[in-house]
Amino acid sequence: NIGLKEADPQLHNLIEKEKKRQWGGLELIASENFVSQAVLESLGSILTNKYAEGFPGHRYYGGNQIIDQIENLCIERALKCFHLSPERWGVNVQPLSGSPANFEAYTAILNPHDRLMGLNLKDGGHLTHGYREGHKAISSTAKYFESMPYFLNKKTGYIDYDRLEQDSKAFSPKLIVCGASAYSRDWDYKRLRKIADKCNAYLMCDMAHTAGPISSRLLKTPFDLCDLVTTTTHKTLRGPRAGLIFYRKGLRKVTKKGKKINYKLESKINFSVFPSLQGGPHENTIAAIATALREAMKPEFVEYQKQVLQNAKILGAEMTKMGYSLVSGGTDNHLILVDLNNKNIDGARVETVLEQIDITVNKNTVPSDTSAFIPHGLRLGSPALTTRGLQETDFVKVAQFLDRGIDLTKEIKSRTKGNKMVDFKKQLELELQNNTKLI
Ligand code: PLP
Repeated sequence: NIGLKEADPQLHNLIEKEKKRQWGGLELIASENFVSQAVLESLGSILTNKYAEGFPGHRYYGGNQIIDQIENLCIERALKCFHLSPERWGVNVQPLSGSPANFEAYTAILNPHDRLMGLNLKDGGHLTHGYREGHKAISSTAKYFESMPYFLNKKTGYIDYDRLEQDSKAFSPKLIVCGASAYSRDWDYKRLRKIADKCNAYLMCDMAHTAGPISSRLLKTPFDLCDLVTTTTHKTLRGPRAGLIFYRKGLRKVTKKGKKINYKLESKINFSVFPSLQGGPHENTIAAIATALREAMKPEFVEYQKQVLQNAKILGAEMTKMGYSLVSGGTDNHLILVDLNNKNIDGARVETVLEQIDITVNKNTVPSDTSAFIPHGLRLGSPALTTRGLQETDFVKVAQFLDRGIDLTKEIKSRTKGNKMVDFKKQLELELQNNTKLI
């Protein structure tokens, strides 16, 4: 049995290069993180060899005695990590990632063409929250279900709950999804529950981005008021790339007539994951989730999450001091969304230039944007660099680097002939070829 270096030097070399890239630059993508050696070991373990269709105790293949113990351990830790009692909540740990987890949750409770509402993509929502462009369904969640977005209040940059309430009365969705990919504020679950109850809809939270601070009790918990909670495990939670679906057990809701209903979410969710949408679970990933969850229950993890939020606040404050505008004016969580409109530059060009100076960020739409390809926002997150040990004073410097990178982008833009992104990229390439020192 030979190792990768010997067996496949070409690939080994590429992985080494990527390792160097990851460790050599400033990683500010809000959805990324660095997992521990222990998580990597579980992920790269021999568990990848095993087929385990079904659930613990009910498998379609033999030889799953140990696998059952691993999956049960992951389930137990997932509930404990989010402070849930196994009598009231259950969790499916098999979703392959966040998008499949969401589709599986929808498929469990909705019929084709049932209605759902989620935060508009350009306002910070995720594709899987029903994204469509006009009549064209971009996400399958808009193709197989009827979706209607809700929005940010353009003045405040916070969720426009009043408009959501009005629109949901007219649209009458069967599901309202909260949670987002680029929203820097906490959620008003009480208000959302009231809105959902008025139209008799399920309330689901996709806490993919905020699972870490939620487990550390630094943000409000969605579990008190939602029926379903989905998450990825690889963002603030610092685990492998995967998803989880939490479902409320037993009697759920009082209808207008005072009746309690058992929605049987457990059997619906499990059936939707397997056999409806997935086959054999990736037990090596499930083991790695279990490892990450164990880490997430340690006091050091809570300290880490506190630092993540503190670093995001400092970054936001420093950017604001330098004249940048933030959507909603600040942050409650691990990310900030910079609106570059007042700086006369867009996020796409800035992202391209920052990449050349080893700062990784992502362009993002802001509410005023019409194009997702050349948007005017920059999404910046603190989780990855906080894992690397950066603290408040370091983030002051990070803000300064960003400012210099943005200035540089403006300079290159001013030297570009033509207005298109391709012209800009050509100009950048030219300057790099001429060995211009960027910073
Ligand atoms: N939900 C939210 C809120 C996300 O931000 C993301 C990914 O960024 C997902 C779901 C999808 O996760 P994945 O990329 O693992 O499919």
